[in-house]
Amino acid sequence: MSRLRAPSPTLKRITPYDPRYLAAPYQMSANENPYDITGELRGAIDEALAQVPLNRYPDPLAKELRDAIAAAYGLAPEQVMVGNGGDELLFNLVLAWGGPGRHALVIPPTFSSYAADAIATRTELSEIALLEDFSLDEQALLSRLAEGDIDLVFITSPNNPTGKCVDAAFIAEMLQESDALVVVDEAYGEFCDKTAFPLLADHENLAILHTLSKAYALAGVRLGYLLAAPSVTSELTKIRQPYSVSAVDQAIGRAVFAHRDDFAAQTARIVADRDRVFQALTEMPNVTAYPSEANFVLFRLSEAFEAEEAWQALYEKGILVRDFSRTPGLANCLRVTCGNPAESDAFLAALGAFLEGGAS
Ligand code: PMP
Repeated sequence: MSRLRAPSPTLKRITPYDPRYLAAPYQMSANENPYDITGELRGAIDEALAQVPLNRYPDPLAKELRDAIAAAYGLAPEQVMVGNGGDELLFNLVLAWGGPGRHALVIPPTFSSYAADAIATRTELSEIALLEDFSLDEQALLSRLAEGDIDLVFITSPNNPTGKCVDAAFIAEMLQESDALVVVDEAYGEFCDKTAFPLLADHENLAILHTLSKAYALAGVRLGYLLAAPSVTSELTKIRQPYSVSAVDQAIGRAVFAHRDDFAAQTARIVADRDRVFQALTEMPNVTAYPSEANFVLFRLSEAFEAEEAWQALYEKGILVRDFSRTPGLANCLRVTCGNPAESDAFLAALGAFLEGGAS
């Protein structure tokens, strides 16, 4: 007989987030920055860490880091919230604006956490799928919002895994037409030149998410931040875990954020590599590559091939990419993270060999 009571029935509907992490020499599956932080900045981080009192609780709101982020954007500190990765902020947004009897709108295929967070918090979920070319179904979205029952919307720009940005003009229209909280997830925003940021000044119902996990190479540290009206951040302070951003995270975040301009050249190289991979994929027979404004490229194999077999062939050569072939709308699709030309070359050669029948 089981000695454990069943957990909440809600959990029956949830499968744990599985990034399908596997050890592989070429990690091209998680949209990380392929370059770890080294040199002077690594030295500055080590020095900052040596000063962190480990016996004391961290500042709950990460005041110094929050002030630095606010100053960089010309915002008041109350318009910034720091979290344990963007993931924590997304969960807190759903906790605060969702919940039983509340309604979130997501636009699949997209980052899976929005739907998972909605299910975990018993938030009702509506979906308006992307069109076949992965652009937004603008009319359908506006009509759905006009029904008036949506409390929270997730827009991802650039979208993961499709790579497309959303027009700021359309985001402005959504903000105007609805009082729902519109979360614009710009986790990959540093890889493109589009942002919803200019809309923040005039729209209380806009929240913009950023992370230090991607362009700023801190996926292992877990730091994200939200830019939003004080009326949004003050609600989040009611439900957030007070010490979720450790003193160690805060010290590293301060050092890296202070040097964020130093990442510009690296970001440009990652973008150039992404464009090269996209171009090479478009020239391969039996491959449709989708233009990307992020640090990854989504591509679809023709019916002559199975994405799962391509994934396996790449993995056998030490290359880990992400298989999206079971995601609705992404049949036979894989996503490859770009940025390191040597890794990208290995990926392109291995995929080319697979498509040519395994000869290489
Ligand atoms: N948003 C999107 C679109 C993402 O792809 C990710 C990471 N995969 C996140 C948010 C969260 O990133 P993190 O928790 O590392 O900040």
